[in-house]
Amino acid sequence: MRETLEKIRKEAMEALASPSAELEELRIRYLGKKGELTAVLRGMGKLSAEERPVIGQMANEVRAEIEKKIDELASAAKGKAMEAKLAAEKLDVTVPGEPIRAGHFHPLALVQRQLEDIFLGMGYSIVDGPEVEYDYYNFQALNIPPDHPARDTQDTFYITDNILLRSQTSPVQARVMEKTQPPIKIISPGRVYRSDAVDATHSPLFHQLEGLVIDRGITMGDLKGALDMFAKRMFGEKTEIRFRPHHFPFTEPSAEVDVSCFVCGGKGCRLCKGEGWIEILGAGMVHPNVLRNCGIDPEVYSGFAFGLGIERIALLKYHIDDMRLLYENDIRFLNQF
Ligand SMILES: [Zn+2]
Repeated sequence: MRETLEKIRKEAMEALASPSAELEELRIRYLGKKGELTAVLRGMGKLSAEERPVIGQMANEVRAEIEKKIDELASAAKGKAMEAKLAAEKLDVTVPGEPIRAGHFHPLALVQRQLEDIFLGMGYSIVDGPEVEYDYYNFQALNIPPDHPARDTQDTFYITDNILLRSQTSPVQARVMEKTQPPIKIISPGRVYRSDAVDATHSPLFHQLEGLVIDRGITMGDLKGALDMFAKRMFGEKTEIRFRPHHFPFTEPSAEVDVSCFVCGGKGCRLCKGEGWIEILGAGMVHPNVLRNCGIDPEVYSGFAFGLGIERIALLKYHIDDMRLLYENDIRFLNQF
């Protein structure tokens, strides 16, 4: 029996020493209920009273030795598995982060925001209006009756005979005047539409910014003062403005307004085509008919209005010579702003 126990111990230790040892299998084989060691212990009844405690102690020692070895190997295997898992999940918190690629504003949006900032700083508020507009607000309320020639230069897209895509931001003025009694001091930026073919200076969709001021005693002097301040803030402190007589149906008198060239300072250069002046907007005193159409008494109130093309300002500011670049959304172009 001693020899049997010694043999079991030796075999078990050899089996456990193999790197491919299946610990659970060996535990069952040697220590399980039907295992080899249990079989030896069952046979102890046949032993003499003197031998029994000696063999019993020896069997317990062999059992303890095998158990200890299996537990050691099991815990070592567990540690190795954990190490491998940790290595696989290793996170280096000192690796520099990937930069987040944030977008930025389109040049038209940049110019619009700059214009809005300037006028907000001068006490104007921003008003929005519908792009799908009634003929009445786009034309008739603004002193442009159905057969007026000004409709030819502002040919737009019609939804019905009576509803169209607005050809200018001016209908917002009419809507504000209808609802609000003076004082009024607003700007209205937004998209407008004309049935024009696309070329370097035309697009069927473009952007305008319109301004309107109405109160008691507003004069042409106020208009010049407002535009002079705007021009200096937009194009630089040395900028001067110049009024040239013009005709718009909704203002009287009307003027086209130039700024002194902000590249050459008025000496003449490529940007101003040698003129020294650059046309940037149209303006004038609101026509009494327009005030009357919108429920404001022209005997009590007067006001001025002005309008400019946001594309035109963007082209001038960034020295872009083709308007189409603003709409093609070529990322190589847009990245430059
Ligand atoms: Zn110039």
